[in-house]
Amino acid sequence: MKDPFLNKVAVWTYYKGSKREQGIDEGQTTVAFVPEKGWFWHIPQHNDMVSVGVVAEGRYLTRDGVKDPKAMFHREVGENQWIKDHLSTGASTGDYYLTSEYSYHARHCGCDGLLLVGDAFAFLDPVFSSGLMLALKSGVMAGEEVHRAILEKDFSAARSAGYATQLRQGVENMRKLIYAFYEPTFSFKDVIMKHPDAAGEITDCLSGDVNKDFTSLWSKIREFVPLPDDLPVGQPLDQATDGHG
Ligand SMILES: Cc1cc2nc3c(=O)[nH]c(=O)nc-3n(C[C@H](O)[C@H](O)[C@H](O)COP(=O)(O)OP(=O)(O)OC[C@H]3O[C@@H](n4cnc5c(N)ncnc54)[C@H](O)[C@@H]3O)c2cc1C
Repeated sequence: MKDPFLNKVAVWTYYKGSKREQGIDEGQTTVAFVPEKGWFWHIPQHNDMVSVGVVAEGRYLTRDGVKDPKAMFHREVGENQWIKDHLSTGASTGDYYLTSEYSYHARHCGCDGLLLVGDAFAFLDPVFSSGLMLALKSGVMAGEEVHRAILEKDFSAARSAGYATQLRQGVENMRKLIYAFYEPTFSFKDVIMKHPDAAGEITDCLSGDVNKDFTSLWSKIREFVPLPDDLPVGQPLDQATDGHG
C-alpha cells in the first residue's frame, strides 16, 4: 500500500565534474533545503560523478505548468545557490528521471517459505537516507530468521511474526521523523530548544538505532505537530485463513 501522506515527487540526474569537498570530505553528501519543505540531494559517487536531485510536493514542482523533468530540475537548481554553485563546474549526463509516490509498505512481510527484506518490505521517503539502513538491517534480521528456520525445519509464515513486528517498529519510528520533517511549521531546533534531551533521541533514530523505545520523543514532538499512527500492515500472510493456500 502507498503511504497515506508521503506522496512526494523526485526529479534527478547525474553530473560529471560537479564541485566536491576536498580530501577526506570528498564523498560528503549534502542535503540542501528547498522552500515548501522540499530538499536537494548532492551525493558524490565514483569516477567524478554526482547523483543530484530534488524532492518536493508535486504541486510545488509542477507550478507554472512545468511537466518536463529537465525543465523542472534546472528551474529548482536556479533557485538554490549552493546547488547552482556546485553544479556550475560540471555537466549533466543528459538523462533526467522523475518518480512519484514511491513510499509504500508491503501488506505482509512474507508467506510460507518467503520473507521480504529491504525495499520489497517497505520504502520510506528518502530524506533521511533510511533505504540502505533498513535494507541492511532487514537483511541481517532475515538471515537470522532463515538460519533458525533451517535448523528447526520450519518455514511457515507464522514464525516470521516477530521479524515483522521488529522491522515494522523500525519503519514506523523513522516514518514519524519523516512526517514531522514535512510538517510546514516543524523545526527539530524548536523541539531541542524546549527539550534538550530530545537531541540524543533524534540522533539515535536518524543514525539507524530505530528499535529503541522512542515513546518519550514522540510525546515531545507531538507538542509541536501531529504524528501518524502505526499502519496495520506487515504481519505474515496466513495462506490458510486468507484463502490463498
Ligand atoms: C536514485 C536513488 C538514490 C538513492 N539514494 C539513496 C541514498 O542516498 N541513501 C539510501 O539509504 N538509499 C538511497 N536510495 C534507496 C536505496 O537504493 C534502496 O533503499 C536500497 O538499495 C534497497 O536495497 P534492496 O536490497 O532492498 O533493493 P535493491 O538495491 O534494489 O536490490 C535488489 C536487487 O535485486 C535484483 N533483482 C530484481 N529482480 C530480480 C529477479 N527477478 N531475479 C534476480 N535479481 C533480481 C535487482 O537487480 C537488484 O540488484 C536511493 C534510490 C534511488 C533510486
